[in-house]
Amino acid sequence: MKLANLAGRAALVVDDRTLDIATASDGRFGPDPMDCYEQWDDLVAWASTVPADADGFVALDEAALANPAPRPRQVFAIGLNYRKHAEESGMAIPSVPATFTKYPASLGGPHDDVPIVGDAVDWEVELVAVVGRAADRVAEADGWSHIAGLTVGQDISDRTLQFAAGMQFSLGKSRRGYGPMGPWLVTPDEVPDPDDLALGCSVDGETVQDDRTSDLIFGIPQLVAELSSVLPLLPGDVIFTGTPAGVGMARQPPRALAPGQVLETWIEGIGTIRNRCV
Ligand code: ZN
Repeated sequence: MKLANLAGRAALVVDDRTLDIATASDGRFGPDPMDCYEQWDDLVAWASTVPADADGFVALDEAALANPAPRPRQVFAIGLNYRKHAEESGMAIPSVPATFTKYPASLGGPHDDVPIVGDAVDWEVELVAVVGRAADRVAEADGWSHIAGLTVGQDISDRTLQFAAGMQFSLGKSRRGYGPMGPWLVTPDEVPDPDDLALGCSVDGETVQDDRTSDLIFGIPQLVAELSSVLPLLPGDVIFTGTPAGVGMARQPPRALAPGQVLETWIEGIGTIRNRCV
């Protein structure tokens, strides 16, 4: 199943058509996409009964796509979660997930502009998981069953602010628009292998990151177990799982995003988001 946020309303995506969930379900679900995560199991069951030729399907309006999980109560983000990225950052391989937050108001949609502040704003393609079933002290073997689905994210980072005053990852990764997500949420059964997906990003067409999620140090089930051992994960919560090698700050000389550039970010089986730097 694919869930989209179309101009603030939850919609099913089938091929290149969408169906408004609140209308088609007579108000049982939605219209707020966040409400869908509160009734995730029921929504998935209902969606499986909707015929592909149901009344109400319309052509997908790409310009109306917004963040599929726009107002999570909690956003978890993991640093140094790919071996080669930890190495390029000159940091040790962590023994527990290196966790920070992106404040929810920094999140954005799949085609939103990214305002560049300063000369050290960097790209970070990330697989993003959204929680569909509350998770409290969950075993790793049960981790996937608490995930509603996957989407594409960019953990855009102002390196100057991130490393100011010692370290402040959360603020440096939370400028306005620095967490674009989309183009929709895909349930794990829709992708070829949810533990092994190609992901990458490009700047003005030049590929700068290109890896596979099988290189994650802590995969999604392990993250659900580790994080939920500390505090409960709630429906609609967002987990940015970390970025592979190839970030701008690790290059010689370092590179950064500049106004006018287009940042394209993709994950196999999910889709592509496209954000203009302004
Ligand atoms: Zn990151």
